[in-house]
Amino acid sequence: MNKSALYKLSYGLYVITSRKEGRFNGQIANTVFQVTSDPPTLAVSINKSNYTFECISSCRQFVVSILAETAPMPMIGTFGFKCGRNFDKLDGIAVRTGITGLPIVIDHCAAFIEAEVTHEFDCGTHTIFLGRILDAGILDPAAEPMTYAYYHKVKGGKAPKSAPTYQAPAPQPPGPAAQAPRYVCSVCGYVYDPALGDPEGKINPGTSFAELPADWVCPVCGAGKDRFTPEG
Ligand code: FE
Repeated sequence: MNKSALYKLSYGLYVITSRKEGRFNGQIANTVFQVTSDPPTLAVSINKSNYTFECISSCRQFVVSILAETAPMPMIGTFGFKCGRNFDKLDGIAVRTGITGLPIVIDHCAAFIEAEVTHEFDCGTHTIFLGRILDAGILDPAAEPMTYAYYHKVKGGKAPKSAPTYQAPAPQPPGPAAQAPRYVCSVCGYVYDPALGDPEGKINPGTSFAELPADWVCPVCGAGKDRFTPEG
């Protein structure tokens, strides 16, 4: 079986918000799709180990905020790679309250959909929640929704191990001996390549990992330099 065929499936990138015991949480999901138009219904696949799973299981409602291409990597990293059990991922994020009482993310989002759970399907590591759509709206008519392909190709994004579409990375072939070593983020899998630098972090190409400032953080998940290890 050639699992790379699965990479040819198309997805978007979404912030899923929900609530447990009066506390809000959000996470990134790429597996959101409309199931029926009458009644308007959509589905989302959530890892059972994620805090958002507990939230949706508890409050039976969720909001899908559709990320735009302008969404910066640290924002995606916060929602996608940090755990909301002990961390308020919505702190500093612009939201408005939907009719469910849940937060709709309005920063760098094109549109939103609010839903209440009607069915759920146990899929082993994940649960698919089916939701009847209660409300939906456009947040930014000019915003282009971010596709999962855009996230990977243009933004250099990675999938966390908890994502339904995660695949272990293939080992990198050794580069020329003269190249400075690449470093891998132990939290999200982002690879710092000195040949590329970190354009979003204003780090020029040719900057070795050792030369990065002490306060430099992973552009995907926000982890510090101490969470990086040499590749290989
Ligand atoms: Fe990272």
